[in-house]
Amino acid sequence: MSDTSRLSPATIAAQAAGAVDAQTGGVVPSLPMATTYLRDEAYQPLRADNIYLRDQSDIVRVAEKVLSQLEGAKESLLFPSGMAALAAVFRTVPNGGRVLVQSQIYWGTTKWIRDFCTRRDIELREVEASDMAAFAAACESFRPTLALIETPSNPWLRVVDIQAAADAVHSAGGLLVVDSTAATPILQQPLKHGADVVMHSATKGINGHSDVLAGVLATNDVTGRVWEDIKADRHDAGAVIGPFEAWLLVRGMRTLPLRAKQMSCNAMELAEFLQNHPKIEEVLYPGLASHTGHELATRQMSGGFGSLLSCIVKGGGAAALEVVGKLEVFHRATSLGGVESLVEHRHTIEPHTGIPEGLLRLSVGIEDIEDLKRDLSQALDA
Ligand SMILES: *Cc1c(COP(=O)(O)O)cnc(C)c1O
Repeated sequence: MSDTSRLSPATIAAQAAGAVDAQTGGVVPSLPMATTYLRDEAYQPLRADNIYLRDQSDIVRVAEKVLSQLEGAKESLLFPSGMAALAAVFRTVPNGGRVLVQSQIYWGTTKWIRDFCTRRDIELREVEASDMAAFAAACESFRPTLALIETPSNPWLRVVDIQAAADAVHSAGGLLVVDSTAATPILQQPLKHGADVVMHSATKGINGHSDVLAGVLATNDVTGRVWEDIKADRHDAGAVIGPFEAWLLVRGMRTLPLRAKQMSCNAMELAEFLQNHPKIEEVLYPGLASHTGHELATRQMSGGFGSLLSCIVKGGGAAALEVVGKLEVFHRATSLGGVESLVEHRHTIEPHTGIPEGLLRLSVGIEDIEDLKRDLSQALDA
């Protein structure tokens, strides 16, 4: 692999950071499936960095290199899911430690962290991090070992000031982790705004084709204790991604910059369309000038505001479910960031979290915008 670090994201992604198949001359990296590697007559490994597959895979390294370059990170580590990546960071918190977590984020994260902290005697505080005064005050009084924010957040689309959050956590002596899934590395690079570790569910926009489960952590602090622990834990405990998933990820990422751009364009247009629709009470999308986080998102993100948007249908749960039932182009399914548009009624999934019954979360794909608009139109006007 040549030095591709100075190229732009579109080039890095399209050429998989210069990865080719050296054996055949193929312009696509090969898919090595072996779980173990040969040693020579003197019992020395043919390649010192390839002894056993667990965390020694060339195709995983290729995927991690692409991710590092897109994220502006020194190092990235892939995991078999976004949750496995998140769990790997939280497992570095010592028993009796303190963690500060943004409230009303991806429900799977909140639930797992609550259970984990209870089991491990870790003190947990949850705070609305888009309210920076509240977040900074919590950092000062609580002094967290680790803080997690998610921006834009899922499904509320709240925007958190990453630099301000990093400053507040750092003055309390802690580390800041940012779940940047909804933005992808194309639209937002939290490490440049002071985050210590950035996390993505690569299952979503990074892979983008709804056919791979994966997670990633990236950092510039590669010699820090936390990163060393995360690496050792992945190697020893074995939360690794398989070669085929990594290969698919490399393939998916070739079009990531294109997809991020097109999905953001489509989402922006749908947000404006929905905002003007009489049956919609409110649209939550950071691209809208009326969104409370718009100015911050404009400063912190670039190239678009992402594929995720939520709207609240007038008339509550029954009205929202009626709209969902009439959609013909949008698939009714959870998840986000794929090329196909999805719609989800979050209250059906997490009725206990106070999510409004009329809230619909849309993951906007790359379909023709007129087809998407017409579909929403007919479902809302029916
Ligand atoms: C999906 C998601 C996760 C969890 O990722 P998995 O790959 O499903 O384990 C975490 N955070 C956010 C914001 C997500 O959307």
